[in-house]
Amino acid sequence: MSSHNAFWRGESSRLLVDGTLRHGRAGEFPTLNPATEEVLGLAANADAADLDDAVGAARRAFDDTDWSRDTALRTGCLRQLNEVLRAHGDDLRALTVAEAGVPVALTYGPQLDIPVADLMWFADLADGYAWSQDLGVAAPMGVRSRRTVRREPAGVIAAITPWNFPHQITFAKLGPALAAGNTVVLKPAPDTPWCAAALGRLIAEKTDFPPGVINIVTSADHSIGARLTDDPRVDLVSFTGSTATGRSVMTTAARTLKKVFLELGGKSACVVLDDADLAAACAMAAFMVCTHAGQGCALATRLLVPRTRYDEAVEATVAAMSRIRCGDPTDRRTICGPLISARQRDRVEGYLALAADEGGKIVCGGGRPAKHPKGFYVEPTLIAGLTNDTRVAREEIFGPVLVILPHDGDDDAVRIANDSPYGLSGAVHGTDPDRARSVAARIRTGTLSVNGAVWYSADAPFGGYKQSGIGREMGVAGFEEYLETKLIAEPA
Ligand code: NAD
Repeated sequence: MSSHNAFWRGESSRLLVDGTLRHGRAGEFPTLNPATEEVLGLAANADAADLDDAVGAARRAFDDTDWSRDTALRTGCLRQLNEVLRAHGDDLRALTVAEAGVPVALTYGPQLDIPVADLMWFADLADGYAWSQDLGVAAPMGVRSRRTVRREPAGVIAAITPWNFPHQITFAKLGPALAAGNTVVLKPAPDTPWCAAALGRLIAEKTDFPPGVINIVTSADHSIGARLTDDPRVDLVSFTGSTATGRSVMTTAARTLKKVFLELGGKSACVVLDDADLAAACAMAAFMVCTHAGQGCALATRLLVPRTRYDEAVEATVAAMSRIRCGDPTDRRTICGPLISARQRDRVEGYLALAADEGGKIVCGGGRPAKHPKGFYVEPTLIAGLTNDTRVAREEIFGPVLVILPHDGDDDAVRIANDSPYGLSGAVHGTDPDRARSVAARIRTGTLSVNGAVWYSADAPFGGYKQSGIGREMGVAGFEEYLETKLIAEPA
């Protein structure tokens, strides 16, 4: 693999504003390797004036150019971007592992290669999309009128992203937003500025995207995100992050009545029915929760097992979890790498201490691995003995931590799964497919996996019920989030 700093040899990364790469007016800030705690280098730090320029550029590109009306130009640029990203795949892969602590194996899937490929799906969708629909002739109030429904881009999009899936979340926003004809200001998380800045550099130097269509503003300052949300020149905010920040985004966006699209946190349940292969289901749950050290919003972090087989399930889960070691993310065999930061590790460790206070027992893991004195690692951890009303069972931890809870049959399992402020995802395991499907149908979440099937795909809408979000990302539904609907009536 090539070096992780192929993009900036000894320099700081730059912002992309109005088609130009430039330094941030607030100087620079460091970006770290979470597996080694070493400073990788410096990222451009945008201030309010940089953001102002970026929003102005996006506004002009939308209002004063043909971008929003020229579907062929847009889909051509998206396909070109896909090609450029693939050509620099190894550099991006190394950078993603180094900066986000992502296990390299995952970059061949949802952490890089799949979302890059998905850009083509959005380009194809836009090329074949029915941008207008003839509603036919009617005579409302006696006036014969031909009505046409047109779908049009929403305008300037504020795309605000977290650090855990830096490319997947970025491309799940840029793909549909750009294909639909919008212009974008992307504000990535302060923890992964280089992943976004690398994209900015490739766009500026290797693609034909017109100036201002994509602007990338890295910053150490969260208030830059808040400012972007408040800017009256922005038409829609597409936000992925925590539920607490999502609430703040919605409140700020309300001042100018912007459309908001929110992908937020989760505390999903994996339900094991009494006819399931218990050991296999528990092993799968253990594996899932350790993937990328549990830093995935849709991972199932509550394992619901039949009460009569609780001890057996604990044993099977411990057996599976103890085989998963925290490891160096550059090793192809690793699935559980480090957490993103010392702050995030403190947060996870705070929940482990709370578990004991709430009467839980850590039956596996719970510490920092002795093998890794450096890096923000936490061992895969199973917590037993809690009930679903404890904070550890209700709040999002965002680490390799699974809570195992007993249920008393299908109805009780559905009740516990739904007894959560969140509603993002989940899983059901059972031998009888009709029964498993019927349990899945009763769980109030945006996606569900039955017996290990995978819902993640470009054409599959993803999003949350309840406090897990508003709207859908990916799929036709995800594309249409970025469209307005206009009706034109003409004399007939
Ligand atoms: P976060 O909410 O702290 O930050 C997300 C982004 O919002 C960052 O870019 C941040 O700078 C910005 N931000 C912070 N304050 C802001 C404000 N007031 N206004 C506008 N923007 C602001 O989230 P995080 O810690 O980076 O990511 C982890 C969280 O993201 C977890 O809760 C996880 O569940 C969630 N997440 C959700 C999904 C999903 O699709 N549902 C996907 C990935 C992550």
